[in-house]
Amino acid sequence: MDMQNAQILFPVNVPGAFDYSVPCDFKISIGNLVYAPIGKHIKLGVVVSLGKADQSRKLKEVVSIKSVKPITLEMIDFIFWTARYNCVPAGLVLKMVLGNLKFLVTSPTVNYFTLSKNLPTKLTTARLSLINNGGPFPARASEIAKRANISLGVVRNFIRSGGLISEAHQVDRPFDAPIVNYGKLNLTNDQSIASEQLVSQVRKKAFNVSLLDGVTGSGKTEVYFEAVAEAIKENGQALILVPEISLTQAVISRFKKRFGVFPATWHSQMTVAAKRRVWREVKNGQAKLVVGARSALYLPFESLRLIVVDEEHDTSYKQEDGVTYNARDMSVVRSKISNHSVILASATPSLETLVNARCGKYAHIILPERPGSAFLPKVELVDLKKFPTRKGKFISEPLILAIKKVLQNNEQAMLYLNRRGYAPLILCQSCGEKLKSPDTDSWLVEHRSTNRAVCHFTGFSMPIPKSCLKCCAEDSFTSIGPGVERIFEEVSILFPNANVEILSSDTSGKPKELASRMSRMEKGEIDILIGTQMVVKGHNFPNLTFVGVIDGDLSLSGGDLRAGERTFQTLVQVSGRAGRTKKSGHALIQTHQPEHEALAALELGDRDSFIEAELNLREALLLPPFGKLAAVIISGIDEKKTDIFAKKFISVAPKVNDLTVLGPSEPLMGRIRGRYRRRILVQSGLEFNLSKYMQIWKDRIKTHSNLKLQIDIDPQNFM
Ligand code: ADP
Repeated sequence: MDMQNAQILFPVNVPGAFDYSVPCDFKISIGNLVYAPIGKHIKLGVVVSLGKADQSRKLKEVVSIKSVKPITLEMIDFIFWTARYNCVPAGLVLKMVLGNLKFLVTSPTVNYFTLSKNLPTKLTTARLSLINNGGPFPARASEIAKRANISLGVVRNFIRSGGLISEAHQVDRPFDAPIVNYGKLNLTNDQSIASEQLVSQVRKKAFNVSLLDGVTGSGKTEVYFEAVAEAIKENGQALILVPEISLTQAVISRFKKRFGVFPATWHSQMTVAAKRRVWREVKNGQAKLVVGARSALYLPFESLRLIVVDEEHDTSYKQEDGVTYNARDMSVVRSKISNHSVILASATPSLETLVNARCGKYAHIILPERPGSAFLPKVELVDLKKFPTRKGKFISEPLILAIKKVLQNNEQAMLYLNRRGYAPLILCQSCGEKLKSPDTDSWLVEHRSTNRAVCHFTGFSMPIPKSCLKCCAEDSFTSIGPGVERIFEEVSILFPNANVEILSSDTSGKPKELASRMSRMEKGEIDILIGTQMVVKGHNFPNLTFVGVIDGDLSLSGGDLRAGERTFQTLVQVSGRAGRTKKSGHALIQTHQPEHEALAALELGDRDSFIEAELNLREALLLPPFGKLAAVIISGIDEKKTDIFAKKFISVAPKVNDLTVLGPSEPLMGRIRGRYRRRILVQSGLEFNLSKYMQIWKDRIKTHSNLKLQIDIDPQNFM
């Protein structure tokens, strides 16, 4: 046999694969996981290509092949595609795919016990209890002891005397197979038409993208369940991506209701052991139904037939640290490489997706109304210039009246303010000094429940000082503006008999707390729920009829090109929580800018004219989706050196026509965690290969150990 060379990619910060020679007696294939020397160590990597050995080159040798299933060719393609498009090192993308080395070892086992056919003759009362009450068998020794109400010693003794036989069980149990027609609902006419369209897309077994565009509560989930059922019919796997924040027990339970089994789930807060089970079962093709946050897209599926991106407009699909990527866009890429369907679902699709649907690249499937007798809530603006709130208060009279009515009718209300804590600013009344984060350009937020000042960017916190740090005035700090805790205080005074609770990452950060609050809300045990962005998505509270938005203008500021679009999306979603069943819903949005086109369109329920206006503006300025953007973020510990480096980087930009380079400039967040930041924005036409250009540019300069340079293709965040 000819000698071979193997190109091996390692899961470390390297841009590409390295060449190795393969010993003659090795049977190696692309996708194999192998050990090979890199630097001073022997490391695990993946064979990404093979070729004839070049005898003139002396190469290091592959050391051994790991006996696990290879990574698929499609996945290897996807890794390099992600790396090229996002200008990130391919090795780091592979690291995301392989996860933890523990995923590659076989499942540990634990001993379970069953009753022996030949029981010992000497049976004490405790042993009799073990036999009669210790089951069902097989069971763990501790379970048997607990059920039989006997000591673990008795169980161990019984094992020694041959009364119980042990069997080794894998800790990582396989996932139960979903039942395709388990809890299928009777769909409405519109829903049936939409689901048939989606199912026929999946049946094509070829790359295609569908936008499932339906108003909130129209049954998009029920409809895409049918496409999921089709995808998993013949041993296929389906991945449903959801924003991490909405990956709640309630959402998972809907899968159980429809498919009879819990899906495999994947999110950042899982333990390594739980991730190991999912990773391995996905790789074996045994986890058919996977519901996960964005990083689930990089799980090593064997027979993926469908990806659903639920709430496709959601900003949490963009990963901004480390390997930057947008899971929505990369889902489309992955589907193209693997030749299957992808469904992008939303009540408020992103302009990028809408334009693709309009020009026929994506199928556009519409659900115009809620099923049965449920209607979209009536949305009205409350002009705070006409209905000012009382001094130091934040809830206007129309909202107070609406909540009163809801309580009289024994219904539920929800108030939305995307601000954790008590007040976003702590100000010294004596000298005007504001409490700032020590290493970040942000004000500290007052959290009265813990009496601490907290930086929401870095997590830094400190007790609120007794006297001003600048002028030393005693007890001079005052709270400026509202957070959810302050709204809670105001509501509790206004409605002393109501059961009021807060839903934010401070009160419901742990999955158990969140589940308990959600379940109480669903059962109607909470009258008024005050929430941050955690309340926006994915919840169905049948008795919720009123939504009040405390500050409709909050997300309009900040100079973000998508500010109007985001505000519109969030407010449609949050008001869409009201009236999801038979009772009609109502939403009031407090604003100082009722004339803003995003807010005016909300009141009129006129999505189309808002989209038209936004699209015209973007087209005129050649902004996405009519042009491309890339951002460069340069950061360093020394401000002067950071500036010099940023200017030097600009000076080495490859010269091309029709490309706009803006900056370097100091962004809104000029310093984060002690690192000074500068931003550069690059704008090009749609036909231009901006990723390639940015990579060539980046390769022209060497970064120093204290300076970081990050490229963000299609930036969503301009801070
Ligand atoms: P969306 O995903 O569009 O917001 P959902 O799929 O969550 O909408 O549906 C909203 C609610 O209406 C859910 O409780 C869902 O089970 C229910 N629903 C939707 N379609 C039907 C139907 N055809 N029959 C009964 N209930 C339905």
